[in-house]
Amino acid sequence: MALAQGRWVKWIGGASNQDQAAIEDLAGLYSLVGVHCLDLAADSAVVAAARRGIAWAMERGAPPPWVMVSLSDGADPHFRKAWFDPRCCPPGCSRPCERLCPALAIPPPGAPQGVLEDRCYGCGRCLPACPHGLIEERDQLLPAAAVPPLLAALRPDAIELHTRIGRAVPFAWRLAQVRAAGIPLRRLAVSCGLEVEGRGSGGVARDQAPTGDSPGGPLATPLANRLVAELWDRFAQVRGVGFAPLWQLDGRPMSGDVGDGTARAAVQLLRRLAPALPPGPLQLAGGTNGRTLALVQDLNGGRARQVAGVAFGSVARVQLQDLLGQAHGRGGRLLDQEDLLPRAIALASALVTPWLNRSR
Ligand code: SF4
Ligand code: SF4
Repeated sequence: MALAQGRWVKWIGGASNQDQAAIEDLAGLYSLVGVHCLDLAADSAVVAAARRGIAWAMERGAPPPWVMVSLSDGADPHFRKAWFDPRCCPPGCSRPCERLCPALAIPPPGAPQGVLEDRCYGCGRCLPACPHGLIEERDQLLPAAAVPPLLAALRPDAIELHTRIGRAVPFAWRLAQVRAAGIPLRRLAVSCGLEVEGRGSGGVARDQAPTGDSPGGPLATPLANRLVAELWDRFAQVRGVGFAPLWQLDGRPMSGDVGDGTARAAVQLLRRLAPALPPGPLQLAGGTNGRTLALVQDLNGGRARQVAGVAFGSVARVQLQDLLGQAHGRGGRLLDQEDLLPRAIALASALVTPWLNRSR
């Protein structure tokens, strides 16, 4: 119903985020304020943590959101973690990596690990920040044989497959692994943007990206045409095996920002591609934030009506990071801190409620 009304909201926990304490708190909070879906790493402990959060919200009257888990058909910035050896860091380093990390995944000097793996969700902010080039990214991809039994054990309501231009065949392989799990799915979501296979896991093909001012119109560039063609290929694949698609246009993957610029990226992509997209509900992601709804509502030519909803990732976590830190510093859940909880609920609600009340 929410998809049909354009009011669908998904909270993105992070395809490689294994911070169970934060997942439990954020899953509980965003379930309580009414999101329709929680998008999680395909990890038993993560899904269990999210389900504890959902149970907390349901005790307070919230309906249960869908549990979605994310997979990728190849290298992807959503499926990576940062890594460095702290023994290589010069003692005088001012530690920009530690200051920039939104997940507090880089501990102070003296810790045995450079990056706390469970906390890192691969946002990439630290990668260019090291003046000595010590931080590398490591892909986190599930082997093919692990997918069917894992999905059969997790029993999610929906699955999201991250794909990329040029990956029709790897997508088909992942889809076959999902089918082999033999679980019923409410939706098979497909997440794709303007990234091109072969440019590295964080490589973004923005050099060829079309602009809204392209001569000849919004589909004037070969890259945009390729993306549309690839989405129609994924549509044929997904429908061919009997799943119902849900499209996620990923405007600026792993942006982690809250400004107008990142919000515009997702909406611009929609503006360029909307008339040519295959059938199925469409949600925006990648740089989405509190500005996104106003930008969507300003779209003309019926494009606003094409938007079934939104997915909030980094912004949903960053705005609660301080409260999470305070609660976890006390050794407890944010969900159980009576002095912090009202503020946390207010912040989560302020992000989500405008979409829940949207009229098209
Ligand atoms: S900045 Fe991002 S990529 Fe780097 S450690 Fe923190 S969460 Fe991981
Ligand atoms: S910025 Fe680089 S050298 Fe400095 S602490 Fe971080 S990883 Fe080490």
